[in-house]
Amino acid sequence: MQSLFEPLICTKRIDETSDATTFEFKKLDDAAFEYQAGQFLTFEVDVAGEVEHRAYSLSSTPSKPESVAVTIKRVVGGKVSNYLLDHLQAGMALPAMAPAGSFTIENNPVSADILLMSAGSGITPCMSMARWLLDTQQKVNIHFIYSARSEADIIMATTLKELDAQHANFRLSFILEQTDNSEFMEGRLNAENFTQLVNDVNGKTIFTCGPTPYMQVVENLAEQRGFNMDLFHKESFVAENETTTEQSDNGVSYQGIAPQHGKNFVINSDKPLLNALEAAGVPIIAACRTGVCGACKCKVTGQVESSSTATLTAEQIAQGYVLSCSSKAMSDLVIEL
Ligand SMILES: Cc1cc2nc3c(=O)[nH]c(=O)nc-3n(C[C@H](O)[C@H](O)[C@H](O)COP(=O)(O)OP(=O)(O)OC[C@H]3O[C@@H](n4cnc5c(N)ncnc54)[C@H](O)[C@@H]3O)c2cc1C
Repeated sequence: MQSLFEPLICTKRIDETSDATTFEFKKLDDAAFEYQAGQFLTFEVDVAGEVEHRAYSLSSTPSKPESVAVTIKRVVGGKVSNYLLDHLQAGMALPAMAPAGSFTIENNPVSADILLMSAGSGITPCMSMARWLLDTQQKVNIHFIYSARSEADIIMATTLKELDAQHANFRLSFILEQTDNSEFMEGRLNAENFTQLVNDVNGKTIFTCGPTPYMQVVENLAEQRGFNMDLFHKESFVAENETTTEQSDNGVSYQGIAPQHGKNFVINSDKPLLNALEAAGVPIIAACRTGVCGACKCKVTGQVESSSTATLTAEQIAQGYVLSCSSKAMSDLVIEL
């Protein structure tokens, strides 16, 4: 079976802030990457003998396909973010799955007036979109609104300022929790500063990414202003609904078959399908385990109840694809990867 992972060579690391670093990668054979701005890579990382999978959005532009970049922010106590920031150096290889994700301009209804609103590490897909839209000279107006704790915490500050200086259709606004500099707005995103920045939301498209409370504020502000929510698109880096990972020993036992891997196993209807597949030794990849990244998708024949279909297309859903981390069995199942 062809491996889902391809080794990428880290060619450069750029320290953006005290806790965020950009890593650039190329393919072993220098082949071009194919992806859409806003998509992510799922990396396989060996941390002290334990294999982990994590998704990282691409911050680079698909219009320069010879290399890609991800920008990783340290999460306090986080296993993989700390490991990569402390260990990954130019010249080292890291296995990655093909780019995936539907938080993209191509996959969503979009108007010509785009608000890219992000905070913290959520800047990455927005940066990729901005770079791509500008580099390919799309006929759009972009307003990039970034929230951070302080000026020192602005990720990719130099690039943003360059885009601002070079492109008449790019407007840049920073909202900083702490600042003495009158160039920036002080505080957190709220109704007052949002109205100051965006006086008419009509006809605009919002792409937003950042911590869950931040995105909730963006969504509430948009709704309060009568925004057309068909043009509101968000990407979460963490689970919005933790219940999918709840464990319990109750539930009904169903029969699972993974014919491609010659496995027969029991599936507890109270636990995510992913648990049964992993326990049976089916080589399924799980990155976020919370219905966000889409890495653990599989095709099922039978009945399941799903709490997330993030990243699956309507066509894949019609074909029977589900996210195994966010699906529970309601009948015996045949499962294909
Ligand atoms: C589609 C997608 C794209 C992503 N893109 C990026 C990106 O561009 N840059 C980036 O830095 N991260 C990104 N992430 C998050 C990344 O995948 C990891 O979750 C993150 O690096 C934490 O992993 P860890 O192993 O360090 O922490 P873990 O050991 O997995 O978690 C440690 C603790 O931190 C909490 N936690 C996990 N993630 C976060 C977070 N992002 N913020 C705050 N607390 C968290 C966990 O709930 C847990 O309590 C993305 C995630 C998804 C699903």
